[in-house]
Amino acid sequence: MTDADLLRSLGVDPSQLDPAPPWTPRAGAERLDGSHPCALCGQPARATGAVDVPGYGRRWLDRCMPCLTATTPRGGPRGPLADTLAVLREVARKTGVPLTIVTDES
Ligand SMILES: [Zn+2]
Repeated sequence: MTDADLLRSLGVDPSQLDPAPPWTPRAGAERLDGSHPCALCGQPARATGAVDVPGYGRRWLDRCMPCLTATTPRGGPRGPLADTLAVLREVARKTGVPLTIVTDES
């Protein structure tokens, strides 16, 4: 997914985002002071990242944590819970680590 695809999927107009400077190791840290609104809901942003959209250049995409969590892909399809639990139990057994699993699925 390109940055343009991401913004389109979020319904964010890149022209409404603040211009971002070239990348540096700590770029964006100063934006997390709560003074920038989430691009999706307007609440104070607690996460930021630069997107680079053709025709607009680098822009800050500021999001609050609930919006970031709700809009971040989970990294592929989820496997059946039983398979995941089996792997966790096997690793716990092999390492001798006590395991307690709490889920909201039956
Ligand atoms: Zn938000």
